[in-house]
Parts: sequence; structure tokens; C-alpha cells
Amino acid sequence: MGNRHLVSSKNKVFAFSSDMKPALIVEDGDEVVFETLDCFSNQIKTTEDRLENLNWSEVNPATGPVFVNGAKPGDALVVEILDIEVANQGVMVAGKGLGPLGEKFEGFYTKIVKIENGCAMFNDLELPIDPMIGVIGVAPKEGSVNCGTPGPHGGNLDTRYIKKGAKVILPVFVEGGLLALGDLHALMGDGEVCGTGIEVAGKVTARVFVKKGMELKNPMVISEGSLFTLASGKTLDEAVKEAVNDMTEFVLGYANISLEELTMLFSIVGHTKISQVVDPLVTARFRMPLDVLEKLGFSKDTIEY
Ligand code: CA
Ligand code: ZN
Repeated sequence: MGNRHLVSSKNKVFAFSSDMKPALIVEDGDEVVFETLDCFSNQIKTTEDRLENLNWSEVNPATGPVFVNGAKPGDALVVEILDIEVANQGVMVAGKGLGPLGEKFEGFYTKIVKIENGCAMFNDLELPIDPMIGVIGVAPKEGSVNCGTPGPHGGNLDTRYIKKGAKVILPVFVEGGLLALGDLHALMGDGEVCGTGIEVAGKVTARVFVKKGMELKNPMVISEGSLFTLASGKTLDEAVKEAVNDMTEFVLGYANISLEELTMLFSIVGHTKISQVVDPLVTARFRMPLDVLEKLGFSKDTIEY
């Protein structure tokens, strides 16, 4: 059992890059508690707090980064989400230019949503929360990617399966990986069509592992009995193509099956879904059930899960 560490939300970054200064150095297998601000850096506490007055340079913070000893380019970082706690209120924003309905609005609207006894109180609706992590990533291969944008390094993936019990598998591009996360949502639907989930501050407990020599192009997630490949692109078409390609390469890497048959199998038990359509790049995912992958030879040795 590894050590347990805490990273406070004072250690925040607004972009993923290899220049990030580690907030913490941990060993393979250690546990880290990340305190996180919401995606507006907790600036919206009431509906009186106008978006016009926001300090936009403080939007989309991620807590970290954490340097994981032993993680080298060409390895993967496995982040097991042990727990997600959320604060007792969250915020939502809808308005001009945001999402598929954005052209119907002139201004911006904010809504505070209280969270009580495991439910989000949306007017008269008591909606059971399903907390998830919007932003989780590592330093990209080159340059700097703001925390609002997803990509091969992770980032703003806004994928609702990144939740308690999930394992997020990220490609390592720089020594130590430099893991940061934030942007919790108490609840979010696929697509995130108004541009926000129930944006909320909170705390994430995670265990980090280094998987040596596991070279990935994009993030993968193991959650709810399935393996997901996640890809982001300018269009959903591009993102879907990449996500299905990533799953294909991954499965062909260990399974004894022809491309023709694998395509057929994907077509009958694989699921193509949309994670989000509101970030600068959109994110799609391809889902395969673990029990099917196990019959093809996938095992705990392939990925720690
Ligand atoms: Ca987000
Ligand atoms: Zn968010």
C-alpha cells in the first residue's frame, strides 16, 4: 500500500504543459487527494454574481500537477478514482453561443443548484447526483493546452464515465507525467448541451500507477464493466474515427482475431457515443464490454484493472 498525499486547490494550473512545476512528487501506487475548485474557480456563489464580472483568466483550473516517479514517455499512467466528494451547491450557465441551442439566447443565465442528501435540487426535481471529473490530464507532447480543451493528453474530456470506480489510462509524454485534474460535475448528461454540467467544487481521491511500456495515442477509461477509448477532434466524425481506430489497435495488439472479424464484433457489441459537443474540440468514445475483451485474451496483465 502506497502513501497518501494531499494537493490543495491552491496548486492550480490553467494549461497542461511540460513547464508545469510539480505541486507534489509521488511514487507508483501512491494515493493522492486532490482538492478542486469548480470550473469558474468558485467565483459564482449566487445568481447575483454576473458572468460579465467574472475573471475569465481564472476559468477551468485543474489541481496539480503531480509528478509520478518512474513514469516516462512511452508509459501509461493509470489513475484509479477511489472517491469523489462534491460541495453542497453547484452552478450552471446557459446562454449565447453555448451548445446546440446557443443561438436562441441573447444573454447568459446562471443557476445555483443545491445538493442535498445525494440529490441535486433542480427546482422541484430531486435528481440523484452521479459525480464525475471533467478535466483530467497530463502534460502534452509539446506546447501548452489550456484546461478547457481536450486532446491526446486528456484535459477537458467531459466524459461522465470518469467517476468513482473508474480507471483513467493516460499516455505519458514527459517524465513524471504531470497529472492534474478538476472541473467536477455533480451531474452531467452526454453532450453537456448547455455548456456546463452542475459545476461544483470538491475532492477527488485517486491512486496512481505506472504501466511501463504501454504506449497510447489517446486516453482510455475502464468504468462500469467496459473499456472506453476517448478521442477528441474538430468534428464528431473525426473523433469517432479515432476512438474506433484506437480500440482496434489496442485489441489487435493482444488478441488473435482478424481485422474483418474484429470490425464485425465491434459493430454488434461496441457502442459509439458522444461525451461532449461544447468544448473547443468535441469528444467521442467507443465502448467495449470487458467480458468480451477478456474472452479475446485481455487480462489484468494487459492493463491493471
Ligand atoms: Ca468541462
Ligand atoms: Zn465543468
